[in-house]
Amino acid sequence: MSDNTTPGLVCGHHHLYSALARGMPAPPETPTTFLGILEQVWWRLDAALDMDMIRWSAMLGALEALEAGTTCIVDHHASPNAIEGSLDVIAQACAEVGVRVACAYEVTDRHGLDGARRGLEENERFIRAGGRGYVGAHACFTLSDDSLESVAGLARDLGVGVHIHVAEGPEDSDGPRRVEPFAADDWLIAHAVHLDRPLNGTVLHNAESNMNNAVGYGNPAALSNRVVLGTDGIGGNMIQSFRAAFIRHRAADVTASPETAWGWLENGWDLFPEARDDIVTWSYDTMDPWHLAYSPGGVRPLTVVIDGELVLDNGEATRVDANEVRAKAAEQAARLHARL
Ligand SMILES: [Zn+2]
Repeated sequence: MSDNTTPGLVCGHHHLYSALARGMPAPPETPTTFLGILEQVWWRLDAALDMDMIRWSAMLGALEALEAGTTCIVDHHASPNAIEGSLDVIAQACAEVGVRVACAYEVTDRHGLDGARRGLEENERFIRAGGRGYVGAHACFTLSDDSLESVAGLARDLGVGVHIHVAEGPEDSDGPRRVEPFAADDWLIAHAVHLDRPLNGTVLHNAESNMNNAVGYGNPAALSNRVVLGTDGIGGNMIQSFRAAFIRHRAADVTASPETAWGWLENGWDLFPEARDDIVTWSYDTMDPWHLAYSPGGVRPLTVVIDGELVLDNGEATRVDANEVRAKAAEQAARLHARL
C-alpha cells in the first residue's frame, strides 16, 4: 500500500455507548484499581442509559468512526436498564450513518439472574431476527459458571462466536481457566492482557484503553492467535489505534516494527471481509506503516466509499447531517450526565 487509498478500516472492539461519556462528572472518589474504574465510572454510566441515549451515542460513535475511515465496527453493548431492543437501536443507527456493525449484548450477573437472562434473550432475539453479531458477555469475574455455560451454549445454537472480555485486569485472572473449555475459533477474546494459557479465538487488542486503565501489557506479538485492533470505546480512529499499539509494543521492545501493529489492523478484514472492497481516500499520500507510525495527527479521510456508495465526501458524511448528530448527542449527553 503505497498510495493514498486503503480499504475500509475495522474497529475490532468498541463500546458505542461510551460516546456520551466525554465530559461526564468525575466520580466521587478517584478510582485506584481497574475494578474501581468499572464500579465508579462505567457501571454507573451504563446503568443510566435509556434508548434515546443509546441511539444518539451510537449515531455519534458511528459518525466519528466514518470520519476516521472506519467502515466496520464490532460493538459490545451494555445498558442494564434498557436491554430489550437495544441492539436494534445500535444496528439502525450504524445503518443510517452507513457503516457496518456486528452487535453483542453484554451478559453479566451484575444485575442478578434476571439481568443475565434478559441479556441472553437480547442476543438471541437480535441474532435470530437476522442481526449480525456475537453473543456478548462481560467477563468471567461477573459471570457464574451457569451464566458462562449459557452464553457458550447460546452461541453454539446460533452458530456465532462469543465476544467477551478476558483477563483485562488482575481481577479476571481466573478468566482464562474458565473460558478455556468453551473458547472456539469464532470467539472474540477482548484484551487478553493477563493470559496464563493459550485460548482459541481472535484476540482484540486495545492499546490505548489498556494504558488508560493501567492494566499492564500482554505482548500480543507473542500470541499465536489472530490479533485485531480495537479502541474499547475510546473513539473509532483506527490509525490512532494502530499508532498507540505500535508505540506500546515499542515501549516493551525497542526492535518492534510498525509492520506488526499494521498487520493487526489488517487482520480486522478477517472479521469483515467486505471492508476490503471499501475505498478510503486519505489526505496523506503514503498510507504505509512506517510513515503513519511517526506522522503527526491530521491524516484524515477525504472520501469513503462503502458497498459502492459515497458515504463521506470531502470529509463530510453524506447520509446524515453531522452537525445535527453532534447537537442531538450533546443533548443526550447532558441528560445522561445529569443522571450521574
Ligand atoms: Zn471492552
